[in-house]
Amino acid sequence: MKKRSGFVSNSSSSSFTCPICDETGDTEYDDIVSCNGCDSIFCYTCKDANNLVEHCPVCKLETVSDYDMITYLLKSRSLDRKLIVEEMRAHGNLTNLRKWLRSKE
Ligand SMILES: [Zn+2]
Ligand SMILES: [Zn+2]
Repeated sequence: MKKRSGFVSNSSSSSFTCPICDETGDTEYDDIVSCNGCDSIFCYTCKDANNLVEHCPVCKLETVSDYDMITYLLKSRSLDRKLIVEEMRAHGNLTNLRKWLRSKE
């Protein structure tokens, strides 16, 4: 089964990242709102600020989740996930990889 970031698959506590403000939280302890359309989980602050009941920025593609972005890039560019992972592993470890990523900003 594929694991989706920010996707709650069971009732137990689970961490999430709000797609609007990038704040992380826990679905069990935080006051959160999820969208029926895209299953995104938003923090309470963003829910109030963006009136998500009628207007979900993820559904409207105003905000694109990393999951959707990665899936889109892999499919639209016909990229092989395994090759990408190998490329990333060539950096040795995550610390080196992130260092490289920062140098590209
Ligand atoms: Zn938020
Ligand atoms: Zn939505």
